[in-house]
Amino acid sequence: MLKWDGHTHTRFCYHGSDAPQELYLDRAVELGFQRYTISEHPPLPANWIDDAKLMDELAMSMEEMPEYLAYAKEMKRRYEGKIEVAVGLEIDYLPGAGEFTDRLVERFGSELEDVVHSVHYLPGIGGMRCIDYTADDFRKHLLAFYGSMDRVADEYYNHVEAAIREAAKLPMRRRIGHINLIEKFRTELPEISESLIRSRLEGILPLLESTGVGIDVNTAGLRVATCGRAYVPEWFLAACVERGIPCVYGSDSHKPEQVGFGYEWFEKAMTRG
Ligand SMILES: [Zn+2]
Ligand SMILES: [Zn+2]
Repeated sequence: MLKWDGHTHTRFCYHGSDAPQELYLDRAVELGFQRYTISEHPPLPANWIDDAKLMDELAMSMEEMPEYLAYAKEMKRRYEGKIEVAVGLEIDYLPGAGEFTDRLVERFGSELEDVVHSVHYLPGIGGMRCIDYTADDFRKHLLAFYGSMDRVADEYYNHVEAAIREAAKLPMRRRIGHINLIEKFRTELPEISESLIRSRLEGILPLLESTGVGIDVNTAGLRVATCGRAYVPEWFLAACVERGIPCVYGSDSHKPEQVGFGYEWFEKAMTRG
């Protein structure tokens, strides 16, 4: 199995670190990674979230995209022979704004080798809301809007399915980001019923299989105190392995020291499957 960190961020992420890319890549080389995907958050539509301060932290501006791609390509060139750097993005599934994503892909798609397609937003009180901002924000703007955790989660998985269909249209390597991100604040919020999670994820398996979209086996949840588990359940990972769905480890590093985080968990879970 190729040792590959398929989901990482850069200094172009304003809720992460401004560390130079070399610190991330040197660490990846040191840990023996053979491939490394740089998958930054692309720009969002103007006023996507009704909170200007948060908007500034969520994503780079459209003006920065060429600079970001040049930066990633420069790193690819500089590390050639040491580690294969793949230029990518973590594209958002934007409910109701699919054209924005289409235009982004039209403009920059030919420069991308890898796309992680992620659901980070759901409609809620006051418009579009982040599902992974804070537990308090989730409670106030999403739980209150949908009425129960099961209803939020059900709608979340509808969006995940739509995101997989959208990702399926992309020509480069693509996978669905952190499929169970909805569990980020699970110890702080009321429980989502296990049977709902299971039945929705089971329903997603044939869709992944038929579209060829892979999964981002995202370990970031293991370092989040309110989650304590990877954003991909082990049974689901095993089912993906069994069906030949591409399973790509992702540290979702927002700091150099997070590169490779939880890789042992991934390796163990993969062999158990
Ligand atoms: Zn993400
Ligand atoms: Zn990410």
